[in-house]
Parts: sequence; C-alpha cells; structure tokens
Amino acid sequence: MMRFKVFFLSIFWVFFLNTILCAQDSLNQVNIRIHSTKKIHSFYIKSKSTIHVFADSEYVSVLDSVQCSFINPNKFKISTLQGTLIVQQAQFKSDSALALCLNEFGKKYRFYDGYIKCSVLIDSLQLINVIPMESYISGVTEAEGGRRCHYEFYKVQSVLARTYLLRHWFKHKRQNFQLCDQEHCQVYHGKPRNGLVNKAVAYTQGQIIVDSSDQLIVAAFHSNSGGQTANSEWVWGGKTSYLKAVSDSFSMHMPNSNWQKKIKKNDWYQYLKSVYGIVFSADIYQIVNNLKMPTRQSDFIVNNTPISSKRIRTDFKLKSAFFSIMPLGNDDLLFYGRGFGHGVGLSQEGAMCMAKQGLNYKTILHHYFQNVKIMPLQHYHITKP
Ligand SMILES: [Zn+2]
Repeated sequence: MMRFKVFFLSIFWVFFLNTILCAQDSLNQVNIRIHSTKKIHSFYIKSKSTIHVFADSEYVSVLDSVQCSFINPNKFKISTLQGTLIVQQAQFKSDSALALCLNEFGKKYRFYDGYIKCSVLIDSLQLINVIPMESYISGVTEAEGGRRCHYEFYKVQSVLARTYLLRHWFKHKRQNFQLCDQEHCQVYHGKPRNGLVNKAVAYTQGQIIVDSSDQLIVAAFHSNSGGQTANSEWVWGGKTSYLKAVSDSFSMHMPNSNWQKKIKKNDWYQYLKSVYGIVFSADIYQIVNNLKMPTRQSDFIVNNTPISSKRIRTDFKLKSAFFSIMPLGNDDLLFYGRGFGHGVGLSQEGAMCMAKQGLNYKTILHHYFQNVKIMPLQHYHITKP
C-alpha cells in the first residue's frame, strides 16, 4: 500500500514547521491563496526537479508528477507513480518552479516559485503559495499590468503592487494568509512570462508609496481616466489628500479613451422616475436627453435633484462615470463617455503613454498621486490593526 521512501520524520519535521511559522510573520515571504475562487477537487503538480512532499508526518520525494484529490473535510489523497497517501495537509517544494493545474491533467499550468501548501476545506481543497515577497510582486505586476508593457510601466505597477500588499497585509488574517489571487485583493497568476517584469521589480525592490503622514497610500488604479482622474470622494465617499482629480492628457487617444452605449429613452426615463423621483414635463425630457459632463463631476443636476453618475454607471453597466448624453432621433439615447474604470488614482493607459514618452516611474506616480513619497520599505513598519 505505502511504498514511499520515508527519509525523516519527527526531528526534521519539527524543524521544518518552525522555519515556516517563523517566516510566516516576516515580510520576506507572503502567503497567497491561489485559485481562490475555484472549488478545487483535484490538482496536479509537476516540476523540472524533484518534488519534495511533506505530508502530515511524512516526507516523500517524487520525480514525476503528483495528483491530489479531495476525499472529505478531513482528508485528501496524494497519488504518485509510487503509491498513495491519505493526509490532512501537505506542502510541495522543488528547486525549480512548481507547475500546477487544476482538475484535469494536461490542462493549463501556472508556474509558482516558493512552495505550495494544501489543506482541506469543508468541500474542497485550499492551496496557498508561500513565496518571497518580491517574487509575488513580479507575478502581480504582470497579471495586473499586462504581458507586453514598457519597462518603466512595470516599475510603476510594481511599486503599486508592493504598496497594496503591505497596506492590506491583514486582509485575510482570519484565514491565515495575506492576500487571495483574485481582484478582491490583487490578481496573481504565478511567475511572470515576460523577463522584463523581474528586472523592473528588482529595480524598484522594496519601494513603497506613503502619504504626507507617512501612511501607506490606497494604491488605486484603473484602466483609463479619459483625460481627467476622479476625486476619491466621488467614488468611495471619503476624501483622500493624495487621490485628487488631475488633468491627464496622457490618457487621450488610447484604446480605452472613449466609449459609447445606446440606451432606450423609456428605460432612462423610468430609471429617473423610480430611483430619483423625477417628475417629467416637456422641459425635463429635453434636459435629461442632453445631460453633459465636459469635465468630471460626481452628479448631474436635474430639477435641483443630484443624479449620481457613479450610480448610473453601475446601474447601466457603463465603462465609466465620465459621460454625456445625446438623443439619437428615435427611441434611443447615446451615452458617450471617456475612460474605463472608476477613475481614481493612476490611469494605466496614461502611465503607459508617459513611459513611452520617456518619463520615469517616479514622475509617473507623482503625476497621479498628489503629495506622496516613494520610500524604501525598511523605513516603514507595519502595525497590526
Ligand atoms: Zn482577497
């Protein structure tokens, strides 16, 4: 049944666990839950080098691949060519990156540095990638920034990713990891494919952004500002000293600079009646068919009633809250807008444009974030909430 070669048990195991526990609170490595929105029932791991498997109280070395399958809330199965183990938790390490795919062998793999921990949840498996912080920043920089970007832009994105990580270090504290790998935290798909990313991250190693009170900033970014960024209070309700609307010509003439969407007049009128209680007259029809926003603002005013552009964006699924309206001469209105995303903080397409024009990452960050400082991490201390 069990044909694994057990190299060492208790003494090494205690040492290994202590190493992990000590390192867990250090900033040098982070615990990231991967494939965090998926119900994982099985997965495969392979590597160019030997895979070291620490499963409950046993150590196993595996030369080929490992399959793990959920059994019940207390156990999962580890299968290799040599045999199987039924365990509660396991850790997988290798001298090379670990290639991991879910559920079906041969499907798309993601590659991870560091090591991977597996444990059981009520109805599935949980995977945590324990990884050096800067390697994680590289993965986020490419996943959030894109595969084929400018070197200087990757530096920008890396400083944002590092700042976000540290500001949200305790976001998943109750679940015993720092961040998940989805938009809820920061998108992370493992090792980056573009070598330029690692180079950019190494260049900005340890650099973070703080405000005038030396607090880590909200490292907000969006796809395109449409020519002007938004005040944070227009989007999130709270004023922030460094998240102020700035003029942003760098975001013009980019892929997401403009958008259009047809909306049925009746849908628009019904919406204004039911959500804002607008009472219609001939004048009001004329007004609501021709609302204009030449520069960003939080509300349109109709009959002394503020109509939230942010709420319209959400309710009509618009690309931005920076838009105007014109009638099309039939049953439709044309909503035509600028930018893509909430508009707060850094515009990614604007930053890409600035990078291509030869501006450096610090100039780019200072353009979008007002009165901030870019400083080395060692001068900053994370305090528990
Ligand atoms: Zn999360």
